[in-house]
Formats: sequence, structure tokens, C-alpha cells
Amino acid sequence: MRQATTTFPALRARLTPQQQIFLRDCLAGLRVRPKQLPCKYFYDSRGSGLFDRICQLDEYYLTRAELAIMDRFVAEMGAQIGPAAMLVEYGSGSSVKTRYLLDALADPVAYVPIDVSDEHLHATASELVRDYRHIEILPRCADFTKEFALPRPARAASRTVVYFPGSTIGNFLPAQAARLLRRIAFTSGAGGGLLIGIDLQKDVARIEAAYNDRLGVTAEFNLNLLRRMNRELGADFNPGRFAHQACYHRDAARIEM
Ligand code: SAH
Repeated sequence: MRQATTTFPALRARLTPQQQIFLRDCLAGLRVRPKQLPCKYFYDSRGSGLFDRICQLDEYYLTRAELAIMDRFVAEMGAQIGPAAMLVEYGSGSSVKTRYLLDALADPVAYVPIDVSDEHLHATASELVRDYRHIEILPRCADFTKEFALPRPARAASRTVVYFPGSTIGNFLPAQAARLLRRIAFTSGAGGGLLIGIDLQKDVARIEAAYNDRLGVTAEFNLNLLRRMNRELGADFNPGRFAHQACYHRDAARIEM
């Protein structure tokens, strides 16, 4: 450990400001017991690709369930949101569910996908620009738990509505989740709205199976974080010596991996 620290100044000097924050968060997480790493770092380009594969897995019921809800109730959602809205998605990924909403909204002014996964965000936004010529697509690469400025659309919106599907709120501890919801209220402003998707508590075996899939895609998604630390921070993890395990904690009502 002492040897590794002496090389840090040289290593740090080569990192981009974002990677310096990544390094700082990794070091802080690895110094606590049990060791932990923030979920948002799962998503580099490879991580976002792996997450898309997770959404297709037999065991990962969340995406299918939410798509079915979108399919069934999207007209009602569109009516609640109303005309000329600006839709802001927190953690937009591939914006698959969002397309249902964009198709159902009356005269939407703009769609603002927000994601930390830069390349994936912009690739998805290009497809949306092509498919939704009547909607201004304004991607923002940002950490939605931190302060960020919303873009100003060319046409004034009647209201700002935040879309936060995928049960991503479950990545946060209760106090962090409460802080994030307050931030969303502030961001959407007076007359704003929030459309959020949250998974319900259910049979533990079903939940655990969703995060321990037979094909090992979720395991690869997790281990990609170690590979990312190797790639970006010059770490020397041997992912072959780590095993993936996802357990549901009933008291906290959440999955821990
Ligand atoms: N909304 C999509 C994707 C959910 S996966 C869906 O429902 O299918 C979660 C997404 O949130 C990923 O694309 C990830 O890159 C992004 N994400 C996670 N934490 C984030 C953070 N703190 N700030 C911005 N984006 C984040």
C-alpha cells in the first residue's frame, strides 16, 4: 500500500478532472468497511452496453414490467403531463421507455436526457434527433445528484416534468433518496411534475434471480467496474479473482451487490 501511494502524484497528474473525482470516490469507498463503490461508476460505454443486455434478460423482470405499464397507461400519463412540456429524464440510458412517452405527449417542447455515460448518451440522443424531428433533444452529461443547469429550449415550455423510471431511486439510501427528490422538486420548479418508476417488494427469490442471472451478464456488469478502474485509473485488479453476489436485504428493502 505504501509503495502504491508514492506513485499517486504521478498518476494523478495524468488523470482528467473527472477521473480525479472517480479516483477520489474509489479510494474513499475502498477505505470503509464493508468496501463500497458508487453505482454511477458502473456506467462507462461498456457498462451501458451491458446494462442494455441486462434489460433483455429473462430474469430481469423490471424493464418488461415497466414497459408493460408504459404501454397500458401512456395515454393517461400524457394527459397528466399536458401540452408543451419539457421532459427531463434522470439516468436516461437508451431512452427506450421514453419513446412511449414522447409518442404520447401533446406538442412536447423538449426532451432533456441526463446521464453520466457520455458516449452512450450522445449516441442515443443522435437516434432521437433523427426519429423525433419535432422535439428539441437537449442531452446533458451530468451527475443528477449534483448541481447542474437545465438547458433552455428554443420555445418556452408550459412546465418541466422529470421522468425517473427503472427503479433507479433504489440505488440510493433513504436520506440520499430524500435529498434527490427535493432536488427534483427544485429542478422542475413551480407547476413541475415527476413521473417515477419504483419496484415493489416481492418474493425474495424473484428479486435475487433478477440480479444473479444465469448468463452472468450482471456479474460482468459488476466486474466491469474493476476493469474500468484498471483502464482509467491504472489500478491492477484481477477481475478473475472476484465473484459476483447479489443479496436482497429485507430490512433495508434493497439489493446489495
Ligand atoms: N432510465 C433507463 C435507464 C436506467 S439505468 C431505464 O429505465 O431503462 C440507470 C441509468 O442512470 C444509467 O444509464 C446510468 O448511466 C445513469 N445514472 C446512474 N447514476 C447516475 C447519476 N448519478 N447521474 C446521472 N446518471 C446516472
